[in-house]
Amino acid sequence: MTGLWQSLVGKMMPSPGGIDCAEVMAQLYEYIDGELDDEKIERIRGHLEKCQRCYPRYNFEAAFLRFLKQQGRTKAPPELQRKIFKAILEEESRG
Ligand SMILES: [Zn+2]
Repeated sequence: MTGLWQSLVGKMMPSPGGIDCAEVMAQLYEYIDGELDDEKIERIRGHLEKCQRCYPRYNFEAAFLRFLKQQGRTKAPPELQRKIFKAILEEESRG
């Protein structure tokens, strides 16, 4: 009963920032790179501030892109770099 209620409420709740999660995820890289127009940036920023599903994902991707830039001209394929980065993060969170 509670689950049904929650899913109904979830459907009625407007998407944070007036933009839905799928759209935010589709444009995440452009957002991080600042390639979108100001209006879109504002909407995505507003969404990320409120959305607990998208924010961790954004945080991860933004840190990952910073990591790639620090690496400079590395020959490792993106998938491998992603694995390396994840390993670094896990290492850091372990302390
Ligand atoms: Zn979201």
